Amino acid sequence: MKKIRLLKCPGYGPATRLDKLADLPLQFDATAALPGDLIMPSPVNAHDHGYGIRTLDFGAVDDALEVWIPGLRLRPRTDPYLEALVAFGRLARTGVGATMHCHNSLNVDHLVDEASAVMRAAGDIGIRLALSCPLLDHDAWAYDGGPNRLKPFLSTSDWQALEPTIPAYAPISTQLAAVEAVAAANTSPLVDVQYGPIGPQWCSNALLEAIAEASAHHNRRIHMHLLESPRQRVWLDRRFPEGVVTYLDSIGFLSPRLAIAHGVQLRPDELELLAERGVQLVSNPSANLRLRSGIAPIATALEIGGPPFAIGLDGTGLDDDQDLWREMRLLYLLQGGRGPTRRLTAQNVFDAAIRVGGRVINANQAEDFTIVDYQALIADALFDDIDEAEILLTRMSAKYAKGLIVAGRDVMRRGELTGIDFDAALSELGAQARADLPRLEEQRPLVRALSEATHAYYATWPGIS
Ligand SMILES: [Zn+2]
Repeated sequence: MKKIRLLKCPGYGPATRLDKLADLPLQFDATAALPGDLIMPSPVNAHDHGYGIRTLDFGAVDDALEVWIPGLRLRPRTDPYLEALVAFGRLARTGVGATMHCHNSLNVDHLVDEASAVMRAAGDIGIRLALSCPLLDHDAWAYDGGPNRLKPFLSTSDWQALEPTIPAYAPISTQLAAVEAVAAANTSPLVDVQYGPIGPQWCSNALLEAIAEASAHHNRRIHMHLLESPRQRVWLDRRFPEGVVTYLDSIGFLSPRLAIAHGVQLRPDELELLAERGVQLVSNPSANLRLRSGIAPIATALEIGGPPFAIGLDGTGLDDDQDLWREMRLLYLLQGGRGPTRRLTAQNVFDAAIRVGGRVINANQAEDFTIVDYQALIADALFDDIDEAEILLTRMSAKYAKGLIVAGRDVMRRGELTGIDFDAALSELGAQARADLPRLEEQRPLVRALSEATHAYYATWPGIS
Protein backbone atom coordinates (compact mmCIF):
# COMPACT_ATOMS: atom_id res chain seq x y z
CA MET A 1 0.00 0.00 0.00
CA LYS A 2 1.33 3.40 -0.89
CA LYS A 3 1.90 5.55 2.11
CA ILE A 4 0.76 9.13 1.67
CA ARG A 5 0.38 11.63 4.43
CA LEU A 6 -2.33 14.18 4.39
CA LEU A 7 -1.97 17.26 6.49
CA LYS A 8 -5.28 18.97 6.90
CA CYS A 9 -4.13 22.30 8.12
CA PRO A 10 -5.41 23.58 11.39
CA GLY A 11 -8.30 25.92 10.86
CA TYR A 12 -9.24 24.31 7.57
CA GLY A 13 -10.47 21.01 8.89
CA PRO A 14 -9.51 18.41 11.43
CA ALA A 15 -5.84 17.50 11.56
CA THR A 16 -5.66 14.17 9.82
CA ARG A 17 -2.98 11.86 8.63
CA LEU A 18 -3.79 9.19 6.17
CA ASP A 19 -1.51 6.39 5.20
CA LYS A 20 -3.52 4.80 2.43
CA LEU A 21 -3.96 6.27 -1.00
CA ALA A 22 -7.53 5.01 -1.03
CA ASP A 23 -8.29 7.24 1.92
CA LEU A 24 -7.64 10.46 0.03
CA PRO A 25 -10.70 12.63 0.34
CA LEU A 26 -11.25 13.52 -3.31
CA GLN A 27 -10.88 12.27 -6.82
CA PHE A 28 -7.15 12.64 -6.94
CA ASP A 29 -4.74 11.66 -9.64
CA ALA A 30 -2.39 9.72 -7.45
CA THR A 31 0.33 9.64 -10.08
CA ALA A 32 1.17 13.19 -9.04
CA ALA A 33 2.25 12.07 -5.60
CA LEU A 34 4.69 9.56 -4.20
CA PRO A 35 4.73 7.73 -0.89
CA GLY A 36 6.05 10.09 1.76
CA ASP A 37 4.82 13.23 0.05
CA LEU A 38 2.77 15.62 2.06
CA ILE A 39 -0.47 16.85 0.54
CA MET A 40 -1.94 19.99 2.00
CA PRO A 41 -4.62 22.56 1.26
CA SER A 42 -3.00 25.14 -0.98
CA PRO A 43 -2.29 28.54 0.60
CA VAL A 44 -3.63 31.78 -0.90
CA ASN A 45 -1.56 34.81 -1.91
CA ALA A 46 -4.09 37.26 -0.52
CA HIS A 47 -2.66 40.56 -1.81
CA ASP A 48 -0.63 41.15 -4.95
CA HIS A 49 -0.42 43.08 -8.21
CA GLY A 50 0.48 40.50 -10.84
CA TYR A 51 3.90 41.82 -11.74
CA GLY A 52 5.40 39.68 -14.50
CA ILE A 53 8.37 42.03 -14.48
CA ARG A 54 9.41 42.70 -10.94
CA THR A 55 9.95 46.27 -9.78
CA LEU A 56 13.69 45.96 -9.16
CA ASP A 57 14.20 44.84 -12.76
CA PHE A 58 13.13 48.23 -14.05
CA GLY A 59 15.16 50.08 -11.48
CA ALA A 60 12.57 50.76 -8.78
CA VAL A 61 14.94 50.16 -5.88
CA ASP A 62 13.27 49.64 -2.48
CA ASP A 63 12.65 52.87 -0.61
CA ALA A 64 10.06 54.45 1.67
CA LEU A 65 6.69 53.69 0.07
CA GLU A 66 5.87 57.17 -1.24
CA VAL A 67 9.38 57.73 -2.57
CA TRP A 68 9.32 54.32 -4.24
CA ILE A 69 5.96 54.80 -5.99
CA PRO A 70 7.23 57.20 -8.71
CA GLY A 71 9.60 54.41 -9.82
CA LEU A 72 6.57 52.40 -10.96
CA ARG A 73 6.38 54.81 -13.89
CA LEU A 74 9.30 52.91 -15.35
CA ARG A 75 7.27 49.72 -15.68
CA PRO A 76 7.73 48.70 -19.33
CA ARG A 77 4.70 48.64 -21.57
CA THR A 78 3.92 45.00 -22.21
CA ASP A 79 0.96 42.87 -23.16
CA PRO A 80 -1.32 42.64 -20.06
CA TYR A 81 -2.06 38.99 -20.80
CA LEU A 82 1.62 38.08 -20.94
CA GLU A 83 2.45 40.17 -17.86
CA ALA A 84 -0.21 38.36 -15.82
CA LEU A 85 0.67 35.00 -17.34
CA VAL A 86 4.25 35.26 -16.12
CA ALA A 87 3.19 36.54 -12.69
CA PHE A 88 0.62 33.80 -12.17
CA GLY A 89 2.91 31.17 -13.68
CA ARG A 90 5.71 32.14 -11.31
CA LEU A 91 3.31 31.78 -8.39
CA ALA A 92 1.83 28.45 -9.51
CA ARG A 93 5.34 27.01 -9.83
CA THR A 94 5.78 27.65 -6.10
CA GLY A 95 2.74 25.52 -5.34
CA VAL A 96 0.34 28.40 -4.70
CA GLY A 97 -2.91 28.14 -6.65
CA ALA A 98 -4.87 31.27 -5.74
CA THR A 99 -4.11 34.96 -5.75
CA MET A 100 -5.62 38.37 -5.13
CA HIS A 101 -4.69 40.52 -8.09
CA CYS A 102 -4.96 44.27 -7.50
CA HIS A 103 -4.85 45.61 -11.01
CA ASN A 104 -2.70 48.69 -11.44
CA SER A 105 -3.98 50.22 -14.67
CA LEU A 106 -5.17 53.75 -14.11
CA ASN A 107 -6.94 54.11 -17.43
CA VAL A 108 -10.59 53.26 -17.00
CA ASP A 109 -11.05 52.97 -20.77
CA HIS A 110 -8.65 50.03 -20.83
CA LEU A 111 -9.87 48.31 -17.69
CA VAL A 112 -12.36 45.90 -19.22
CA ASP A 113 -9.91 44.71 -21.89
CA GLU A 114 -7.02 44.43 -19.48
CA ALA A 115 -9.10 42.64 -16.87
CA SER A 116 -10.28 40.10 -19.41
CA ALA A 117 -6.64 39.51 -20.41
CA VAL A 118 -5.75 38.96 -16.74
CA MET A 119 -8.67 36.55 -16.26
CA ARG A 120 -7.66 34.64 -19.39
CA ALA A 121 -4.10 34.36 -18.08
CA ALA A 122 -5.32 32.94 -14.76
CA GLY A 123 -7.48 30.46 -16.66
CA ASP A 124 -4.62 29.35 -18.90
CA ILE A 125 -2.39 28.73 -15.87
CA GLY A 126 -5.31 27.19 -13.93
CA ILE A 127 -5.23 29.26 -10.72
CA ARG A 128 -8.03 30.89 -8.76
CA LEU A 129 -8.18 34.64 -9.04
CA ALA A 130 -9.74 37.56 -7.25
CA LEU A 131 -9.48 40.63 -9.42
CA SER A 132 -9.60 43.95 -7.65
CA CYS A 133 -10.41 46.80 -10.06
CA PRO A 134 -8.59 50.06 -9.31
CA LEU A 135 -10.67 53.03 -8.14
CA LEU A 136 -9.13 56.41 -7.29
CA ASP A 137 -9.75 60.10 -7.77
CA HIS A 138 -7.77 62.06 -5.19
CA ASP A 139 -4.37 63.50 -4.26
CA ALA A 140 -2.14 61.83 -6.86
CA TRP A 141 1.61 62.04 -6.19
CA ALA A 142 1.38 63.65 -2.74
CA TYR A 143 -1.00 63.52 0.21
CA ASP A 144 -2.71 66.68 1.37
CA GLY A 145 -2.98 68.48 -1.93
CA GLY A 146 -1.77 66.31 -4.79
CA PRO A 147 0.82 67.16 -7.48
CA ASN A 148 1.08 70.86 -6.69
CA ARG A 149 2.63 69.98 -3.34
CA LEU A 150 5.69 68.71 -5.19
CA LYS A 151 6.07 71.74 -7.45
CA PRO A 152 8.35 73.68 -5.05
CA PHE A 153 10.72 70.72 -5.02
CA LEU A 154 11.04 70.41 -8.81
CA SER A 155 12.91 72.49 -11.35
CA THR A 156 10.73 74.51 -13.72
CA SER A 157 11.63 72.30 -16.64
CA ASP A 158 10.95 69.08 -14.72
CA TRP A 159 7.60 70.44 -13.56
CA GLN A 160 6.68 71.41 -17.10
CA ALA A 161 7.60 67.94 -18.30
CA LEU A 162 5.63 66.26 -15.52
CA GLU A 163 2.54 68.45 -15.50
CA PRO A 164 0.91 66.82 -18.55
CA THR A 165 1.12 63.46 -16.75
CA ILE A 166 -1.08 64.55 -13.84
CA PRO A 167 -3.90 62.03 -14.00
CA ALA A 168 -7.40 63.08 -15.02
CA TYR A 169 -9.78 60.76 -13.21
CA ALA A 170 -12.96 59.47 -14.76
CA PRO A 171 -16.21 60.30 -12.95
CA ILE A 172 -17.12 58.01 -10.06
CA SER A 173 -20.11 56.54 -11.90
CA THR A 174 -17.90 55.69 -14.90
CA GLN A 175 -15.32 54.02 -12.68
CA LEU A 176 -17.92 51.92 -10.87
CA ALA A 177 -19.65 51.00 -14.13
CA ALA A 178 -16.32 49.69 -15.44
CA VAL A 179 -16.09 47.30 -12.46
CA GLU A 180 -19.58 45.98 -13.21
CA ALA A 181 -18.60 45.58 -16.87
CA VAL A 182 -15.56 43.55 -15.84
CA ALA A 183 -17.75 41.37 -13.61
CA ALA A 184 -20.32 40.90 -16.39
CA ALA A 185 -17.58 39.77 -18.77
CA ASN A 186 -16.34 37.16 -16.31
CA THR A 187 -17.46 33.64 -17.10
CA SER A 188 -15.14 31.69 -14.81
CA PRO A 189 -16.27 30.19 -11.50
CA LEU A 190 -12.63 30.49 -10.40
CA VAL A 191 -12.64 34.30 -10.71
CA ASP A 192 -14.16 36.84 -8.30
CA VAL A 193 -14.31 40.50 -9.34
CA GLN A 194 -13.97 43.06 -6.54
CA TYR A 195 -13.87 46.81 -5.99
CA GLY A 196 -10.30 48.04 -5.52
CA PRO A 197 -10.16 51.53 -4.01
CA ILE A 198 -6.39 51.95 -3.94
CA GLY A 199 -6.42 53.52 -0.48
CA PRO A 200 -8.37 56.23 1.37
CA GLN A 201 -5.57 58.75 0.76
CA TRP A 202 -6.14 58.40 -2.98
CA CYS A 203 -9.97 58.40 -2.84
CA SER A 204 -12.35 61.29 -2.26
CA ASN A 205 -15.03 60.88 0.40
CA ALA A 206 -17.59 60.78 -2.40
CA LEU A 207 -15.81 57.85 -4.05
CA LEU A 208 -15.46 55.92 -0.79
CA GLU A 209 -19.15 56.46 -0.04
CA ALA A 210 -20.17 55.35 -3.54
CA ILE A 211 -18.08 52.19 -3.21
CA ALA A 212 -19.63 51.35 0.17
CA GLU A 213 -23.07 51.68 -1.35
CA ALA A 214 -22.24 49.74 -4.51
CA SER A 215 -20.65 46.93 -2.48
CA ALA A 216 -23.81 46.51 -0.43
CA HIS A 217 -26.03 46.80 -3.49
CA HIS A 218 -24.15 44.27 -5.62
CA ASN A 219 -22.95 42.14 -2.72
CA ARG A 220 -19.46 42.59 -4.19
CA ARG A 221 -16.31 42.50 -2.12
CA ILE A 222 -13.88 45.39 -1.61
CA HIS A 223 -10.10 45.06 -1.36
CA MET A 224 -8.22 48.19 -0.26
CA HIS A 225 -4.79 49.23 1.01
CA LEU A 226 -5.18 50.87 4.42
CA LEU A 227 -2.71 52.60 6.74
CA GLU A 228 0.39 51.13 5.15
CA SER A 229 3.01 53.83 5.75
CA PRO A 230 3.50 56.16 8.74
CA ARG A 231 2.90 59.16 6.46
CA GLN A 232 -0.53 57.78 5.61
CA ARG A 233 -1.27 57.62 9.34
CA VAL A 234 -0.26 61.26 9.79
CA TRP A 235 -2.24 62.49 6.81
CA LEU A 236 -5.38 60.43 7.39
CA ASP A 237 -5.44 61.54 11.04
CA ARG A 238 -5.48 65.13 9.82
CA ARG A 239 -8.07 64.50 7.12
CA PHE A 240 -10.37 62.46 9.36
CA PRO A 241 -10.16 63.90 12.88
CA GLU A 242 -12.59 61.22 14.07
CA GLY A 243 -10.20 58.56 12.71
CA VAL A 244 -10.19 57.05 9.25
CA VAL A 245 -11.54 53.69 10.42
CA THR A 246 -14.37 55.40 12.33
CA TYR A 247 -15.11 57.44 9.21
CA LEU A 248 -15.18 54.33 7.03
CA ASP A 249 -17.56 52.75 9.52
CA SER A 250 -19.84 55.78 9.46
CA ILE A 251 -20.33 55.43 5.70
CA GLY A 252 -21.02 51.68 5.85
CA PHE A 253 -17.67 50.77 4.27
CA LEU A 254 -16.73 48.21 6.93
CA SER A 255 -18.39 44.83 6.47
CA PRO A 256 -17.50 41.14 6.06
CA ARG A 257 -17.18 41.96 2.33
CA LEU A 258 -14.07 44.09 2.99
CA ALA A 259 -10.42 43.07 3.18
CA ILE A 260 -7.76 45.65 3.92
CA ALA A 261 -4.13 45.20 2.95
CA HIS A 262 -1.21 46.15 5.21
CA GLY A 263 -2.86 47.89 8.18
CA VAL A 264 0.62 48.42 9.60
CA GLN A 265 -0.34 51.61 11.42
CA LEU A 266 -3.66 50.38 12.87
CA ARG A 267 -4.36 51.14 16.53
CA PRO A 268 -5.91 48.61 18.94
CA ASP A 269 -9.30 50.37 19.00
CA GLU A 270 -9.32 50.32 15.19
CA LEU A 271 -8.46 46.62 15.15
CA GLU A 272 -11.38 45.96 17.47
CA LEU A 273 -13.80 47.92 15.30
CA LEU A 274 -12.63 46.14 12.14
CA ALA A 275 -13.17 42.80 13.87
CA GLU A 276 -16.64 43.80 15.05
CA ARG A 277 -17.59 44.57 11.46
CA GLY A 278 -16.19 41.27 10.13
CA VAL A 279 -13.38 42.86 8.07
CA GLN A 280 -10.29 40.79 7.16
CA LEU A 281 -6.72 42.12 7.29
CA VAL A 282 -4.08 40.98 4.79
CA SER A 283 -0.53 41.21 6.04
CA ASN A 284 2.43 41.69 3.71
CA PRO A 285 5.46 41.49 5.96
CA SER A 286 8.20 41.64 3.30
CA ALA A 287 6.66 44.61 1.53
CA ASN A 288 6.28 46.40 4.84
CA LEU A 289 9.95 45.88 5.65
CA ARG A 290 11.27 46.60 2.16
CA LEU A 291 9.25 49.82 1.80
CA ARG A 292 9.97 50.80 5.42
CA SER A 293 6.39 50.86 6.62
CA GLY A 294 7.13 48.77 9.71
CA ILE A 295 5.68 45.60 11.22
CA ALA A 296 1.92 45.11 11.28
CA PRO A 297 0.23 44.54 14.69
CA ILE A 298 -0.80 41.00 13.79
CA ALA A 299 -0.02 39.36 17.13
CA THR A 300 -1.73 42.23 18.92
CA ALA A 301 -4.77 41.75 16.70
CA LEU A 302 -4.89 38.09 17.69
CA GLU A 303 -4.58 38.87 21.38
CA ILE A 304 -7.27 41.53 21.52
CA GLY A 305 -9.74 39.79 19.25
CA GLY A 306 -8.89 41.89 16.19
CA PRO A 307 -9.71 41.00 12.59
CA PRO A 308 -8.66 37.64 11.14
CA PHE A 309 -5.58 37.98 8.96
CA ALA A 310 -4.41 36.53 5.66
CA ILE A 311 -0.98 36.74 3.99
CA GLY A 312 0.10 38.33 0.71
CA LEU A 313 3.30 38.92 -1.23
CA ASP A 314 2.43 42.34 -2.66
CA GLY A 315 4.99 41.85 -5.43
CA THR A 316 7.88 42.31 -3.02
CA GLY A 317 8.68 39.02 -1.29
CA LEU A 318 11.68 38.63 1.00
CA ASP A 319 13.99 37.23 -1.68
CA ASP A 320 12.08 38.93 -4.49
CA ASP A 321 11.13 35.48 -5.71
CA GLN A 322 7.35 35.42 -5.01
CA ASP A 323 7.72 32.60 -2.50
CA LEU A 324 4.69 32.65 -0.20
CA TRP A 325 6.19 29.91 1.96
CA ARG A 326 9.01 32.24 2.95
CA GLU A 327 6.48 34.99 3.54
CA MET A 328 4.63 32.71 5.95
CA ARG A 329 7.93 32.00 7.72
CA LEU A 330 8.79 35.70 7.97
CA LEU A 331 5.41 36.52 9.45
CA TYR A 332 5.71 33.63 11.91
CA LEU A 333 9.12 34.85 13.08
CA LEU A 334 8.25 38.55 13.21
CA GLN A 335 5.13 37.97 15.26
CA GLY A 336 6.39 35.37 17.72
CA GLY A 337 7.25 37.88 20.41
CA ARG A 338 9.94 37.49 23.07
CA GLY A 339 8.16 35.59 25.80
CA PRO A 340 8.15 31.91 26.75
CA THR A 341 4.83 31.50 24.97
CA ARG A 342 4.64 32.30 21.26
CA ARG A 343 2.32 35.22 20.53
CA LEU A 344 1.38 33.59 17.24
CA THR A 345 1.33 29.86 16.55
CA ALA A 346 1.98 27.74 13.48
CA GLN A 347 -1.74 27.02 13.50
CA ASN A 348 -2.48 30.74 13.24
CA VAL A 349 -0.23 31.05 10.19
CA PHE A 350 -1.82 28.17 8.26
CA ASP A 351 -5.28 29.33 9.23
CA ALA A 352 -4.37 32.75 7.80
CA ALA A 353 -2.82 31.49 4.60
CA ILE A 354 -5.56 28.99 3.79
CA ARG A 355 -8.89 29.71 5.44
CA VAL A 356 -8.77 33.50 5.78
CA GLY A 357 -7.02 33.80 2.40
CA GLY A 358 -9.98 31.94 0.92
CA ARG A 359 -12.38 34.47 2.39
CA VAL A 360 -10.39 37.37 0.97
CA ILE A 361 -10.58 35.96 -2.56
CA ASN A 362 -14.18 34.81 -2.00
CA ALA A 363 -13.33 31.21 -2.79
CA ASN A 364 -13.70 27.79 -1.31
CA GLN A 365 -10.49 26.01 -2.18
CA ALA A 366 -11.54 22.65 -0.76
CA GLU A 367 -10.31 21.00 -3.95
CA ASP A 368 -6.97 22.82 -4.08
CA PHE A 369 -3.90 20.94 -2.93
CA THR A 370 -0.16 21.45 -2.88
CA ILE A 371 2.02 18.38 -2.98
CA VAL A 372 5.16 18.85 -0.94
CA ASP A 373 8.34 16.80 -1.28
CA TYR A 374 8.19 16.16 2.44
CA GLN A 375 10.83 13.44 2.43
CA ALA A 376 13.36 16.05 1.30
CA LEU A 377 12.35 18.33 4.14
CA ILE A 378 12.82 15.65 6.80
CA ALA A 379 15.71 13.75 5.21
CA ASP A 380 17.94 14.28 8.25
CA ALA A 381 15.24 14.17 10.91
CA LEU A 382 15.77 11.58 13.65
CA PHE A 383 12.11 11.31 14.58
CA ASP A 384 9.23 10.62 12.25
CA ASP A 385 6.65 12.48 14.28
CA ILE A 386 7.97 16.04 14.29
CA ASP A 387 5.08 18.42 13.81
CA GLU A 388 4.51 18.96 10.07
CA ALA A 389 3.39 22.54 10.51
CA GLU A 390 6.67 23.39 12.28
CA ILE A 391 8.71 21.58 9.62
CA LEU A 392 6.91 23.51 6.87
CA LEU A 393 7.23 26.89 8.56
CA THR A 394 10.90 26.35 9.26
CA ARG A 395 12.04 24.77 6.00
CA MET A 396 9.43 24.93 3.24
CA SER A 397 10.16 26.92 0.12
CA ALA A 398 9.09 26.88 -3.51
CA LYS A 399 11.65 24.29 -4.52
CA TYR A 400 9.93 21.63 -2.39
CA ALA A 401 6.55 22.20 -4.05
CA LYS A 402 6.27 19.33 -6.51
CA GLY A 403 2.64 19.52 -7.46
CA LEU A 404 -0.38 21.81 -7.47
CA ILE A 405 -3.99 20.84 -8.02
CA VAL A 406 -6.65 23.55 -8.32
CA ALA A 407 -10.35 22.67 -8.50
CA GLY A 408 -9.32 19.13 -9.40
CA ARG A 409 -7.05 20.25 -12.25
CA ASP A 410 -3.36 19.42 -12.39
CA VAL A 411 -1.71 22.85 -12.62
CA MET A 412 1.92 22.10 -11.83
CA ARG A 413 4.04 18.99 -11.60
CA ARG A 414 7.67 18.89 -10.55
CA GLY A 415 7.98 22.63 -11.06
CA GLU A 416 6.58 22.56 -14.60
CA LEU A 417 3.26 24.15 -15.46
CA THR A 418 0.81 21.95 -17.33
CA GLY A 419 -0.99 24.86 -19.03
CA ILE A 420 1.77 26.95 -20.61
CA ASP A 421 5.46 27.05 -21.48
CA PHE A 422 6.68 29.34 -18.69
CA ASP A 423 10.19 29.92 -20.03
CA ALA A 424 8.85 30.92 -23.43
CA ALA A 425 6.36 33.34 -21.85
CA LEU A 426 9.08 34.86 -19.66
CA SER A 427 11.44 35.34 -22.55
CA GLU A 428 8.75 36.94 -24.72
CA LEU A 429 7.83 39.28 -21.86
CA GLY A 430 11.49 40.25 -21.48
CA ALA A 431 11.72 40.97 -25.21
CA GLN A 432 8.65 43.22 -25.05
CA ALA A 433 10.13 45.06 -22.07
CA ARG A 434 13.45 45.62 -23.81
CA ALA A 435 11.66 47.00 -26.85
CA ASP A 436 10.34 49.76 -24.56
CA LEU A 437 13.82 50.66 -23.29
CA PRO A 438 14.33 53.85 -25.36
CA ARG A 439 11.19 55.37 -23.81
CA LEU A 440 12.22 54.26 -20.33
CA GLU A 441 15.74 55.68 -20.71
CA GLU A 442 14.20 59.01 -21.58
CA GLN A 443 11.86 58.84 -18.58
CA ARG A 444 14.46 57.88 -16.00
CA PRO A 445 15.81 61.35 -15.10
CA LEU A 446 12.28 62.67 -14.71
CA VAL A 447 11.25 59.76 -12.50
CA ARG A 448 14.35 60.32 -10.38
CA ALA A 449 13.44 64.00 -10.03
CA LEU A 450 9.89 63.08 -8.97
CA SER A 451 11.18 60.60 -6.38
CA GLU A 452 13.58 63.19 -5.00
CA ALA A 453 10.85 65.82 -4.85
CA THR A 454 8.60 63.34 -3.04
CA HIS A 455 11.40 62.63 -0.57
CA ALA A 456 11.95 66.34 0.00
CA TYR A 457 8.23 66.97 0.51
CA TYR A 458 7.79 64.31 3.19
CA ALA A 459 11.08 65.23 4.84
CA THR A 460 9.28 68.40 5.96
CA TRP A 461 6.65 66.34 7.78
CA PRO A 462 7.24 66.21 11.52
CA GLY A 463 7.46 63.21 13.73
CA ILE A 464 8.35 60.39 11.33
CA SER A 465 11.71 58.69 11.43
ZN1 LIG B 1 -0.36 46.41 -2.71
